Amino acid sequence: MRDPREASLIAVERRRARAAVKREIQSGVRNPLSVAREAWSDADSPAAGLRITEFLGSIAGIGVVKIRRILDDLEISPRKRLGALGARQTESLSSWLLDRQTHDSRANMRGRLVVVAGPTAVGKGTVVARIRERHPDVKFSVSATTRDPRPGEVEGEHYLFVTDEEFERLVETKQMLEWAVVHGQHRYGTPRGPIVAALESGSSIILEIDIQGARQVKMAMPEAILVFLLPPSWNELVRRLQTRGTEGPEEQARRLDTARVEYDAQSEFDVTVINDDVDVAAEAVVHLMSGN
Ligand code: 5GP
Repeated sequence: MRDPREASLIAVERRRARAAVKREIQSGVRNPLSVAREAWSDADSPAAGLRITEFLGSIAGIGVVKIRRILDDLEISPRKRLGALGARQTESLSSWLLDRQTHDSRANMRGRLVVVAGPTAVGKGTVVARIRERHPDVKFSVSATTRDPRPGEVEGEHYLFVTDEEFERLVETKQMLEWAVVHGQHRYGTPRGPIVAALESGSSIILEIDIQGARQVKMAMPEAILVFLLPPSWNELVRRLQTRGTEGPEEQARRLDTARVEYDAQSEFDVTVINDDVDVAAEAVVHLMSGN
């Protein structure tokens, strides 16, 4: 029989070794697939002793909710240790890790697609204008719309102003990454070509679109970062909508209805940024583009 003191020292040492492996995964020193392979080839290794939940949780970008979903998909019990998976589980986890690794390295080579959305009148336009001013090098998508230009709006800079027929043709020829009828009135859409070109050349690009569009972009390009701009409060949002003076009372009421539904969509987004101070909000968005 082993001396209990000796056994507890061994247990402490093992825990420490497991913690070191987790840190190595977290900091990117070791890639998760190589840790998993070590666990499967050596049942006494610290890697083998990691709980599957601890292992997945050490990988950047994977939190509690994702862990649950991944384990459900791969049919692995959250109580399992990495070194004690069945053959089928080993196989499915290893192909999942491989897919993720390939996807990550592709995403690193490409620029980032940052989608800024949020309820109507939250000040998306102001934040975007501030980014343009302070970061002239940042690329923006220019949407197509069927609405008329407002005073001061420039064709090709603020929007591509198109007729219904032109818009229809862009949709039919699959030139739109996403499109939506906004405020139940006009159609707005993101031309796909400039987005693909920017990302492939390694540049990041910002899309300022509505929430329906943001959802479509996430489906088409899951690597997109969805940013939800929040007003400091709901009352402030109503005040901003009523005082900006670009819409008549009927249009204001319609936009407020849309904003109420949109406000509830924030949980679908990757990041929320409160637009209390425009400079701070603008910098927060730019920071996301650099991936830090
Ligand atoms: P506005 O008419 O005030 O310029 O824009 C109205 C709304 O249309 C804003 O919420 C804006 O985010 C949204 N929007 C602008 N461009 C696009 C786009 O390309 N796609 C989608 N889905 N929404 C857009």
